[in-house]
Amino acid sequence: MSDLATALRARIARDGPLRLDDWMAACNTAYYAGPDPLGRDFVTAPEISQMFGEIIGGWIGDLWLRAGRPAVRLVELGPGRGTLIADALRVLARLPEFAAPLALVETSPALRAQQARRVAADWYDTLADVPDDLPAIIIANEFFDALPIRQFDGAGGERAVTVAAEGFVATTIPAPATSAGETCPAGQAIAGAIGERLRNRGGAALIIDYGYADAVAGDSLQALRNHAVADPFAAPGDSDLTAHVDFTALARVAGFAGAIRVSGPVPQGVWLARLGIEARAADLQAGNRAAAAGIAAALVRLTAPAQMGNLFKVMALSAPQWPQPAGFDA
Ligand code: SAH
Repeated sequence: MSDLATALRARIARDGPLRLDDWMAACNTAYYAGPDPLGRDFVTAPEISQMFGEIIGGWIGDLWLRAGRPAVRLVELGPGRGTLIADALRVLARLPEFAAPLALVETSPALRAQQARRVAADWYDTLADVPDDLPAIIIANEFFDALPIRQFDGAGGERAVTVAAEGFVATTIPAPATSAGETCPAGQAIAGAIGERLRNRGGAALIIDYGYADAVAGDSLQALRNHAVADPFAAPGDSDLTAHVDFTALARVAGFAGAIRVSGPVPQGVWLARLGIEARAADLQAGNRAAAAGIAAALVRLTAPAQMGNLFKVMALSAPQWPQPAGFDA
């Protein structure tokens, strides 16, 4: 048994069943601290192709130019291997006057080390620790889906985890809420902190994740191990635990009753197409004929509705005195 499993068994024996969000937090902290989480069990958009981070770099540059080239801080939440921000910065380097301190919010020491090989930055454990002396342009790709959720059955029960003869299993504990569904209190708290920062200092945030805009998810908890769906309770810390992101809830909290502009969410495929990913793919193919088929395949994977194009959504939050972020109007 892993050290984490032993510790969780002891905790449940002492305190009783563990709420799902506490389970998810403990498991994911261990998971992301482990060896190369992003190579082992799942692949994210920036790891599929450099085009993804480059398009985001273009989006940042366009917004910054139209905002009048202000001093800004770039912030990324959960940067993984640092691939997205390295690709984005390569594009931004073409704007001679663009220079921004980079703040990376990352809790995993293993991933911080990987990020440090790709970019120069300051690292923080939480967004609240990042200085707010400047307007911020905040990027978060597949960050909110990793944050712990709570699940309610609508009949006075909340999902929790306990120990049975066969190992860890789901159970039900009395719930404080009577409505059914999932909530992500940690995600909502961060959305609120983003909104507050944008309201106080200006700037914009780009949130990309798999999720939904109409609150319908009953149980979207998913474990991935070796690129396959796994039991979320079987091997704590050994699989990636995620849940669909409720964009409506994030927008409600971050929007401060209209004080912050909410753009989208729009499907990832639509957003990438509006930002010119097809032209970028053609350029890359022209420059490297041998890689043309691979580039075409990556383009399909990122944009096709049956692949990542529809399930993944893009939403922007921005200060009302900032220009409208690109890619959200038809
Ligand atoms: N954005 C990257 C990685 C996505 S995986 C990509 O697209 O490839 C989720 C990332 O969020 C990892 O870097 C993980 O270590 C980080 N993370 C998860 N929970 C976190 C938390 N509570 N605070 C800060 N970072 C967290």
